[in-house]
Amino acid sequence: MIDLVVLGGGAAGIFAAIQAKTLNPATKVVLLEKSAVLLAKVKVSGGGRCNVTHACFDPKLLVKHYPRGEKELLGPFHRFGPQDTIDWFEARGVPLKVETDGRMFPLSNRSESIIECLLNEAGKLGVEIRLRARIEQITASDGGFTLKLKQEELISCKNLLFATGSSPEGYQFLEQLGVKIESPVPSLFTFNVPTSALKELSGNVVDPAELQIKGASFVQKGPLLITHFGFSGPAALKLSAWAARYLHEKDYKVELLINWLPEFSYEEILEAFLTLKKEKPQKNLEVENLFKLPKKLWKAFIETRDKRLCELSLKDFQVLSQKLHSDSYQVEGKTTNKEEFVTCGGVNLKEVDFKTMQSKTCKGLFFAGEVLNIDGVTGGFNFQNAWTTGFIAGTSAAGEG
Ligand SMILES: Cc1cc2nc3c(=O)[nH]c(=O)nc-3n(C[C@H](O)[C@H](O)[C@H](O)COP(=O)(O)OP(=O)(O)OC[C@H]3O[C@@H](n4cnc5c(N)ncnc54)[C@H](O)[C@@H]3O)c2cc1C
Repeated sequence: MIDLVVLGGGAAGIFAAIQAKTLNPATKVVLLEKSAVLLAKVKVSGGGRCNVTHACFDPKLLVKHYPRGEKELLGPFHRFGPQDTIDWFEARGVPLKVETDGRMFPLSNRSESIIECLLNEAGKLGVEIRLRARIEQITASDGGFTLKLKQEELISCKNLLFATGSSPEGYQFLEQLGVKIESPVPSLFTFNVPTSALKELSGNVVDPAELQIKGASFVQKGPLLITHFGFSGPAALKLSAWAARYLHEKDYKVELLINWLPEFSYEEILEAFLTLKKEKPQKNLEVENLFKLPKKLWKAFIETRDKRLCELSLKDFQVLSQKLHSDSYQVEGKTTNKEEFVTCGGVNLKEVDFKTMQSKTCKGLFFAGEVLNIDGVTGGFNFQNAWTTGFIAGTSAAGEG
């Protein structure tokens, strides 16, 4: 009987298999990958550069980047956090670098560096990898699990580790094993606003802007990118993550409120305009870009551009202040963010013992990575979840946890 079968050759599965073999070289570890390639998402991640982790070293702050998994990941991050990830890759000849926004990439700027490192390590340790391994059935018995592959081949194992990401097949097998799955819905997407008057200003960024969904409590602040279909950028992506399930329920049709000047109150904005009118009555607003917004955007906001400040009424300034403070757009759908996207949903976290990543109800069944109902915002947090839960699952499935 095989000691451990890992299902899925993504970041979490490979990392877990490596950890199991590192701790216990005598353990027989077989990794089954249904496709013809390993680490496919790592390859395309971060625009081909792989945003491996995030330079956030306090577990209490780190967990705040996970709309799902915040409470559960606190303990695991104390055991294996971003510093451990950095040390792990560095020790194997792949130094990471940090960018100004905290995202961490391999110094080479190539996701292949991460792939080569992981596959070399797995090979060196003797993880047996089988590609195109299609499983038809999984049954649990007292002493472990039996997997029926195509061509009637049977594989028996003591421990079974699910690292199948957001694959519907993985969820199906788990449900058959009695595991509760939270229904999967997309996270990390951008907003389609067909009626947006700003679409022609595609490429302009406002940092920070504050986004809010009208009638709900979701609010996010950060750089906002105007695109030819609506809005994107970190603020939009974060909002999509925190409101993933709510937006799904609303069929991605909501009213989006944008505060273009979140550092100022409505009263402060209005006051600034009235002061300007007093000081420079002969100037016009188009020239006086008071809040240093991108020029073209500012121009788009100023409907009274032909008038001098002394010709503008209190009402004119109130309307403009209101627009800057609480602009409104009708979202009519979403677009997949090419840089990074994940699934909200997966294995119900109440079913998992986070000290071992083992199922509380099915002995010998382990989970790691995106198959869990855990997902982070963009910035390297999703891979950190894969490394952390992979490390813990691999440790305990090797009998060392
Ligand atoms: C375009 C893109 C870019 C991204 N960029 C980043 C980034 O820069 N930083 C970041 O932190 N996150 C990023 N992410 C998210 C990150 O890639 C995932 O969170 C991470 O890959 C999850 O790892 P995983 O091993 O859990 O799942 P996956 O990477 O999805 O791996 C699961 C594996 O299991 C296999 N599998 C599925 N079902 C079965 C089965 N029944 N039997 C055998 N094998 C099976 C699949 O073929 C796959 O190889 C990105 C995602 C995308 C889509």
